[in-house]
Amino acid sequence: MLPPGSTIGIVGGGQLGRMTALAAAPLGYRCHIFTPEADGPASQVSAETTVAGYDDLDTIETFARSVDVITYEFENIPVSTVERLAQLVPCRPGPRALEVAQHRVIEKTFAAEHGVPTAPFAAAQNLAEFEAAVTKIGRPSIVKTCRLGYDGKGQRRIDKASDLAEIWASLATDDAIVEGFIAFEKEVSVIVARGLDGTAVPFPVVENRHVNHILDTTIAPAEISPDTAETALRYAVALAEGLEIVGLLAVELFVGADGSVLMNEIAPRPHNSGHWTQDGCVTSQFEQHARAVAGLPLGPVDIIRSIEMQNLIGDAVDTWQEIVAEPGAKLHLYGKTETRPGRKMGHVNRPPANRR
Ligand code: AMP
Repeated sequence: MLPPGSTIGIVGGGQLGRMTALAAAPLGYRCHIFTPEADGPASQVSAETTVAGYDDLDTIETFARSVDVITYEFENIPVSTVERLAQLVPCRPGPRALEVAQHRVIEKTFAAEHGVPTAPFAAAQNLAEFEAAVTKIGRPSIVKTCRLGYDGKGQRRIDKASDLAEIWASLATDDAIVEGFIAFEKEVSVIVARGLDGTAVPFPVVENRHVNHILDTTIAPAEISPDTAETALRYAVALAEGLEIVGLLAVELFVGADGSVLMNEIAPRPHNSGHWTQDGCVTSQFEQHARAVAGLPLGPVDIIRSIEMQNLIGDAVDTWQEIVAEPGAKLHLYGKTETRPGRKMGHVNRPPANRR
């Protein structure tokens, strides 16, 4: 167990790092942020920041030597960098979790190997393979770049009339996955914490609603049957254990009208769909993350009250004055100075009685 006064190094300087640092403080930890951006959301609330690029190996090694443990708040750091850091200081989660989460084919293959079903999929590295993959999977389907896709970027839907050559050219990639289109009823997620001693504790299943491919609202807990919830929790724990995660693993899943559960993707870090825990759960995902990476026992995840979490995206943040005046609403802003369309500026947690 890291004693109070120890320093948690966080690679990445965004809101997930900010809220982790805020939750680590009451446990007595200092946070040191490594980020390319000066004065970002995480740096504003942390003891120290190193500003450098993720490919600046000398600087990141100096950073590693100055902290007691390293975690990260976004998953697109080169695996080779994390492997190097792991030789200097404990990295939690480790490089394997990153490697799997960074690549959609590796991720879905890993799930299948651990008894977790996904949409049918096929890999494609050129137009001929793409055409063969679509023939194999059928239409409708979705093609996604294997790496660096987020919020619906780097993906296209394939319908009966789709021109495959045009779609392939538009993706400008040589590494893609074609997935069968799932007519899901709900999108849900589970965040699992796994401690240094191997104990895995999943947070309750929540439902996620997207607008323009960006998470808009999380409803906690999800309104699904106990059997479906049990299946989702079991899959998420199986993946966290398979990856030997120390820290958090977020697992996004599709739920069919018949109660079937399929994994969509994973992220080895705190997740937007876990923000409700700050005001609805005995232990927040951020405290749990800090506990896991510091080697502390995990906290209980009992629900205090149901929550509807709404993201404040772009101009929606301008409603902050109404939110702070709304009884029961809890405002969380990220300290971003520039508002841009599609940018996550903050979120609000509300009891369902305040639903809009
Ligand atoms: P992803 O980047 O994989 O999370 O995909 C972004 C969003 O696209 C998901 O949240 C779903 O709403 C939708 N989506 C992704 N994959 C599929 C699929 N195989 N079938 C149906 N919808 C999907």
